[in-house]
Amino acid sequence: MAAGYQLKKAEYVDRPLSEDEMWSAFAYLFSSKSHNDTSYKYGFLKAIIDNLYNTDDKLKLNFDQLFSKFAEIYWNLVLKHHIKQKNPGKLDRRSRLETILFESQEKYNIIEGIPFESLACDMRIDICKRVKSDCKNNVVGALYADLGGLFYSFSLSGEWIQLNPRMYEFACKHKVAIEKLNYYEWARFLERVNEDNVIDHLLSKIDESTMRTRSSLAYYRDILFEEFENKCFYCGKRVTRDKVEVDHFIPWSFIKDDQIWNFVLACPECNNMKRDKLAQVDFLEKISERNEILIERDHHDNVQPAKRIKMIYNWAQRNGYNEIWTPRKIGV
Ligand SMILES: [Zn+2]
Repeated sequence: MAAGYQLKKAEYVDRPLSEDEMWSAFAYLFSSKSHNDTSYKYGFLKAIIDNLYNTDDKLKLNFDQLFSKFAEIYWNLVLKHHIKQKNPGKLDRRSRLETILFESQEKYNIIEGIPFESLACDMRIDICKRVKSDCKNNVVGALYADLGGLFYSFSLSGEWIQLNPRMYEFACKHKVAIEKLNYYEWARFLERVNEDNVIDHLLSKIDESTMRTRSSLAYYRDILFEEFENKCFYCGKRVTRDKVEVDHFIPWSFIKDDQIWNFVLACPECNNMKRDKLAQVDFLEKISERNEILIERDHHDNVQPAKRIKMIYNWAQRNGYNEIWTPRKIGV
């Protein structure tokens, strides 16, 4: 069989798999046997995990979805936090990806330390495109092979991956554990290839490399405020535009993604009390009804159907989010 990075397309192994076999695939990926010179496999796995709930109904993700996360993750780690992603070796060479990022920073005259989210939209699109066309050959097939061909099928020319339904369910069920293993091994790799001064708070830097800034929350707040009544989603209290907060219905720390279907407006008190918890189950129906209205009003980018939101809610519970929050007064 050709080495993973030489593959142009491949199919996932389609047969029943035991939990042990699926854990073994990840154990191999994170072992020293699957050696890598760069951190690409960790970054691409994070891009998939962060996109787990953005698949279509055939469990496909396209390269634009994946490589926009990938570019964002690396922009923030490499340019904002100055963390090298390649074993520098004797020649102190950068990886292709790092070279693209530095070139883009220069091309657009971007001052140091600017997070990806704050770049202008056309710059972000251009950077993602360059990262995608340069990195897809090295990354997609390599991770495919490192996971024993179990996780996904892919096509480089079609620019998609399609997740194996068996592995998809496994990944949803153990999302937090897989994510933590990935961060742990990635951090160990980065500790080896970086100087001590850049690796303080390393795990938080990785975990937050796709975190949105307040400006994008303000964008969603304005849409929701204009489209819906100015009331707290949870307690029903009236709120004003300057006193309303945007809450991730399924906690951000679980979903690691900002999509309108998961945002609700909350009063500061509810937002502050709810924090990283799930709201009680009655609100599932309420948010699904709200999302129906979003679709009717043409805000349908990736709005999840009610059934899917319920599944994500259940997966969050199975991943340790089992503390359920109820507002003091309910405005359902
Ligand atoms: Zn409230």
